[in-house]
Amino acid sequence: YLHINGVRKVFGSVVATDHVELEIKEGEFMTFLGPSGSGKSTTLYILAGFQDPTAGDILLRGRSILSTPSHKRNIGMVFQRYTLFPHLSVGENVAFPLRVRRLPKAEIDAKVKHALSLVRLAGFEDRMPANMSGGQQQRVALARALVYDPPVLLMDEPLSALDKKLREEIQLEIRRIHQETGVTILYVTHDQEEALRLSDRIAIFNHGKIEQVGTGSALYASPATHFVAGFIGDSA
Ligand code: ATP
Ligand code: MG
Repeated sequence: YLHINGVRKVFGSVVATDHVELEIKEGEFMTFLGPSGSGKSTTLYILAGFQDPTAGDILLRGRSILSTPSHKRNIGMVFQRYTLFPHLSVGENVAFPLRVRRLPKAEIDAKVKHALSLVRLAGFEDRMPANMSGGQQQRVALARALVYDPPVLLMDEPLSALDKKLREEIQLEIRRIHQETGVTILYVTHDQEEALRLSDRIAIFNHGKIEQVGTGSALYASPATHFVAGFIGDSA
């Protein structure tokens, strides 16, 4: 469905990713797990269209999306530091991707309402981001990413700034949304527990390469390398 085909990204003398090769199934929850600097974010940015790969290709349903500009890729994104527009209300923030797409107002209102109820913030349309908790703001960012039904959703450590309780609460929310909408999710974390809890499969990144891909239990039961064993074993 989504094919990361031998992607390499070089910044000067730094090889950020090298021959990253991964086939993601439609509706799959795929997590990139690995230490700092291993190339997880770089791979997401290339998928999002924020960066071009030095070599390799990204195929969606067999067609390259590299020449499609970022805003036309229909890929939703949620990043570590929620990036809500502070001067816009919650409703206006969530409506933003729909306004860009010039949908009629009645349709926008209905979709915003639905997206906010998905993240359990029904009725919060008129609140301003500054008057909400970090977890609520992160849920608004999630609603905004989901509001136009993107087939693919990228999340780069979306919960790392939150405390444990909120993190677990929103993990459940994300899992429920994944089940309800069937969206294909690529999720970045360096939290093993979180990866095991959420993912269908996990790709273990190390030094810009994928060391192994598999279900959490498969990685745990038969790690291909010492690195994978150490990394998955720590918390499991
Ligand atoms: P973290 O868990 O710390 O977020 P990561 O796995 O997301 O790490 P990347 O951000 O993908 O890692 O970075 C991979 C490598 O590429 C690192 O060595 C990083 O320093 C380098 N790198 C990333 N972006 C740039 C850039 N714009 N310019 C130069 N080097 C970069
Ligand atoms: Mg990163």
